[in-house]
Amino acid sequence: MFKKWRLTERTKTLLTLELAIVLPAVALMGFSIWNLKHIQRNKAVEAAIQLDFQHVLKIAEKKTWHQANDLVTPIRKEFPNPDDGSQIKSRLEHILLAHPEYAYAALYDKKSNQLVSRVQPRRDRDQAFCGFTQEDITMLATWLPTEASSFVKHLRMMKEKEEEPWGFEGGWTVRANQRAYWNIAYFIPEGVPADRVVLGIVAFDEDYLRKTFFPAVVKDVLSSKNTVLRADANLPVMMIHAPKDSTPWVASADWDGGEPEEERRFADVFPNLIFAMKYQGTTIADIGNRFLRYNYIVLGALSVLMVGGIWLTYRNVSREMNLARLKSDFVANVSHELRTPLALIRLYAETLELGRLTAKEKYQEYFRIIREESERLTALINNILDFSRIEAGRKEYEFKETNLADLVRSTLDSYRFQIEQNGFAFEENICSDIPPVTVDREAIARSLLNLVNNALKYSKDQKYIGVSLYQANSRVNLEVRDRGIGIPPNEQEKIFEKFYRCGDPLVHNIKGSGLGLSLVRHIARAHGGEVLVESSPEKGSKFTIALPLDPGLRTAAA
Ligand code: ADP
Repeated sequence: MFKKWRLTERTKTLLTLELAIVLPAVALMGFSIWNLKHIQRNKAVEAAIQLDFQHVLKIAEKKTWHQANDLVTPIRKEFPNPDDGSQIKSRLEHILLAHPEYAYAALYDKKSNQLVSRVQPRRDRDQAFCGFTQEDITMLATWLPTEASSFVKHLRMMKEKEEEPWGFEGGWTVRANQRAYWNIAYFIPEGVPADRVVLGIVAFDEDYLRKTFFPAVVKDVLSSKNTVLRADANLPVMMIHAPKDSTPWVASADWDGGEPEEERRFADVFPNLIFAMKYQGTTIADIGNRFLRYNYIVLGALSVLMVGGIWLTYRNVSREMNLARLKSDFVANVSHELRTPLALIRLYAETLELGRLTAKEKYQEYFRIIREESERLTALINNILDFSRIEAGRKEYEFKETNLADLVRSTLDSYRFQIEQNGFAFEENICSDIPPVTVDREAIARSLLNLVNNALKYSKDQKYIGVSLYQANSRVNLEVRDRGIGIPPNEQEKIFEKFYRCGDPLVHNIKGSGLGLSLVRHIARAHGGEVLVESSPEKGSKFTIALPLDPGLRTAAA
């Protein structure tokens, strides 16, 4: 009945543990795994980085627009008018000298169908340059008559909408067997009457765009603080290329080749240019995989910690439950141990009181039994009191310089009779030349009695008790040997724990509280010493209380 209740109580505690810790832990781990799988399936990390790239490319386009704007704005104000007649050319030349970023400047008037142009005077001696530029101007002259009106209409509309009144055209061509980018900005010069179709035109020098303008834009965008690139451990790199040709036309200094991850085709200012981005030395897919791997590792490590924590909790709960069981056993044992000597004392005292005994030896025997039982009672009560004092942290020792040989002898003397009465062979080896040791006499005597008592209790056929006291180096050893049932190796450390009694069924038939050895150990340690056991089952045990001769050690430990 008792056992059944204990089992259900234990199961209940374990169930609570599982519900309270294991279930949430498993749920958390399960959720994390599901979450990571979800992220993996949706390619969420990759999508987030792509979004960042798109954002950066948008910034790049905006920056390009602003900078091109800044370049064209002053030109428009300085630009000549068709009415300037012979001054047009020299004014164009003047503008180009002040702005080396342009390859040529031109003024088109539909009324006279005239295109007045000037190639960058700073490069007048560069024949190749002049050749290409002249070709561009000729091309311009062929399509302006048909396109100019619609350009002007468009620009006037923009002005009405209060947008910047200029337009850009650009594209790819081949010069000296090489791809080259051309780009022009067109606008209506200031002071042109509303009914006239007049266009001012400047063309950016390709060298300037390729070597100065775009490298500066790229550098600016990549180093800009508002570039929200999440995987900041990786270095974003950028390049610009033509449509259908992924060879970089302009690239950031650390561009390392490979496929771009995200692209944006510029619409307004530099048509037909494509800005492309990626991470240096890695791909977004790799970053996504790395992120997942890292998270799985962290999750794995956390799971191991969690399992470890659960195991520790389980162990502690088990230990507490065991202790609770030991305590209830202890109460049962102690009540039993108190009741038996009391019953005996009462029985023999009543018999004596009746005065019916005739033989004198009987009187003696009854008196002896009463004395022995009351001694046993005192020893037990002393143990319990000592134990409760130790548990409450109130145990105090009275250290006095003591002749240990005398103390051991006198303690054994009161026991010798009982030992021999029980049929034990008793051997005593007490060295008399041991120097005086500072000890608590009562505590040492009690420890010795506990050990001798155990030797008496836990012996079967081989009834032998040996007690030795001798000096070993800086220590005094008090040894109690028996040839009793012995202690299995795995229990030799546990027997010093409070309430612990060996699992052997034999032990459970012998009365005991499981307190004796824990007290002996406490006492030995309070003296700066230790209690040691050597034992083998069926062969016997040897308990040694080793006390230091040097009182300094004892004070430190106490
Ligand atoms: P108690 O003897 O009251 O049970 P102790 O603390 O004195 O408590 O001893 C703890 C346990 O150690 C005992 O229950 C017993 O199993 C074992 N033990 C102690 N001394 C001996 C011994 N001399 N021989 C065999 N087992 C022993």
